[in-house]
Amino acid sequence: VSRELNPIDSHVMLGNHAVGGERFTVIAGPCGVESKEQLFSVADMIKQQGEAVALRGGAFKPRTSPYSFQGLGEEGLKLLQQAKQRTGLPIVSEVIDANDVELMAQYVDCFQIGTRNMQNYRLLEAVGKQQIPVLLKRGMSATIEELLLAAEYIVNSGNPNVILCERGIRTFETATRNTLDLNAVAYLKQKTHLPVLVDPSHGTGVRELIAPLSYAAAAVGADGIIVESHLNPCEALSDGHQALDAEQYAALLDGLRPFVHAA
Ligand code: PEP
Ligand code: MN
Repeated sequence: VSRELNPIDSHVMLGNHAVGGERFTVIAGPCGVESKEQLFSVADMIKQQGEAVALRGGAFKPRTSPYSFQGLGEEGLKLLQQAKQRTGLPIVSEVIDANDVELMAQYVDCFQIGTRNMQNYRLLEAVGKQQIPVLLKRGMSATIEELLLAAEYIVNSGNPNVILCERGIRTFETATRNTLDLNAVAYLKQKTHLPVLVDPSHGTGVRELIAPLSYAAAAVGADGIIVESHLNPCEALSDGHQALDAEQYAALLDGLRPFVHAA
């Protein structure tokens, strides 16, 4: 995935949008799919605001605690498929097990590999055998080199459609959930031809910090952002503290426009 071997930026298609192309990518949606009503309401809002090119939502949730909401599984995938029919937005959803890849391939337009699975090499090879795009998140304690080598696993297995994602790393700092490593974004843009997105939701874990860090991401050359949104964040079954409600999501998009057009 080195730029030395391939100096031209790669584009990864999500529907008819080229991630890594001219236009800044916005992907939005809830952390997890919770119910038809929850998913459709947020999907409709995101569609209505324009700008977003894909809908995110986890059907399989890799939670730190086994007692937390684990996702709806295949039922969640079916709801995502219906949300796609409703809005026309392609679906991005996390795969946590190599055995689920073929099932998920029937429902999703982009596999998300989460921070906890960045070095699950059998999983990387399994998504590498598909042609569906893969959004590969950086491991929370992974170096940039390890992220790039994880991407190599996917590409080397036959799937060139890889999008990298900086989602914050563990540092000594505890004021925020993670430390969003924007160095990594600028560095990656020099080293690799792959598109690089930023996830300021997990990167900060603080709703109020999502807009400023999104603008910063655009300023350092990220190809786009992936953000969490929920119409009723207080009731969310996962990551409610970092979910943007409709008003906050609209404000984020408004603030983003000058940065995106200046880039
Ligand atoms: C998510 O996107 O909801 C998620 C679990 O992300 P990460 O793997 O970055 O924690
Ligand atoms: Mn989440």
